[in-house]
Order: sequence, then C-alpha cells, then structure tokens
Amino acid sequence: MQRDKKTYAIAPHIPGGIILDFNVLRNIADVAEKYGAQALKITGEQRIAIIGIEADKIDEAWEELAMPKGHPIGLCLHGIKICPATHFCKIAQQDAVTLGLELDKKYYGVDLPAKFKMAVSGCMFSCSEPAIKDIGIMGTPKGYTVMIGGNAGLKPRLADKLVENLTSEQVMSMVDKIINYYRENANSRERMARMVERLGLEKIKQDLLG
Ligand code: SF4
Repeated sequence: MQRDKKTYAIAPHIPGGIILDFNVLRNIADVAEKYGAQALKITGEQRIAIIGIEADKIDEAWEELAMPKGHPIGLCLHGIKICPATHFCKIAQQDAVTLGLELDKKYYGVDLPAKFKMAVSGCMFSCSEPAIKDIGIMGTPKGYTVMIGGNAGLKPRLADKLVENLTSEQVMSMVDKIINYYRENANSRERMARMVERLGLEKIKQDLLG
C-alpha cells in the first residue's frame, strides 16, 4: 500500500534488471497508463514498480502484465542485484550476469528466516554493491570472492570475506551451503549480518569450509 493509503504498487520480477525484449517495457508502460498509475519507479532491486494502482484493478493489471511477481517484502530472498559484467561492461573480469541469473532462477523468492539480499559483480568496482548484501559475490581476475553478512539497514555492516578465487560452479555450491547454514542457525527474523556477529566469522568459516 502506498502513502496515500488508497493505492498500491506492483513490481514484476525482472531478473538482473535486464530486458532484452523491448515489448516487455512497452507492456509495462501500457499497463501503467491503462490503470492510471501515478509513476513508474526503478527500484534499488532492479525492478520497475508501477505505483498508484487501485486495489480492485491489481489482479487485472497482473494478468495483462503476464510477468512473474516480484518479492519486494517478506521473509524471503528479495532480490539478486547483478551488474552488466562481461555481457556489456568493457572492464568486467567475470560473467556476473550468467552467474547472477542462475542464482536468481534457483533462489529468488525462497523462504528464509529474514529478509535476504544478494548481489553479484563482474569486478572489484562492485557496482552492484556486494559488500552490503547478506551474500555478496564479487568478480576478481582470479575468480569470485564470496562475502557474507553485509547490511545497509538501520545498523549498517560491511560483509566479511568468506572465501576467494571460486569458479561460478563453486560459487553455486557455496551459496547452497551458506543458505542451508543460515536456515539452520539463524533465529527467527535474524538477518545474516546479526547471525555473523552472534556466531562469529571464524566459527562460520570452520563450519562451512572445515
Ligand atoms: S562492477 Fe565492474 S564489471 Fe560490473 S559494471 Fe561495475 S565496472 Fe563493470
């Protein structure tokens, strides 16, 4: 619900914020116009929110969008922020788009103990801000660095480096381990950052990496 307490925002899922079929963008604009939206907002999670839809028009609007729904709220994986990396960026060192989309397919919207965010960048410039995500994956000349426990909320925290120089396959299996570990060890509604502070990085490293 929006600030006017009358209308709603709906946000279709756009993996990585990448649109290859421009008709998708036209359709979003058409739906926004048809249902009297006040604005389109490009969100921090690389979605396009259609703001100002009336409650009784929401279902129809979704039907016409014909896109998967975004998960901007709730105890789940809210989004995986991906930089353009080797698909488009001339200085990228790793293919963050392919890896990020694979992670998106596997984890987007999955239930977790608390709100959860991920990011993947193609180089150490970190345009997708992996250091302030629950799991951050940063490309380097030697592979990927995986970080955990970043948070940009009320109590900001930079993520801790967990492991370096992984291939994309190794990242997929490491993320799987981290997600399972988080599910088993986090308290209800405890963000990854707080769990890392409570358990300590060394214990988590020992448990995950041996
Ligand atoms: S993080 Fe690196 S690869 Fe990604 S957009 Fe920024 S400069 Fe390019």
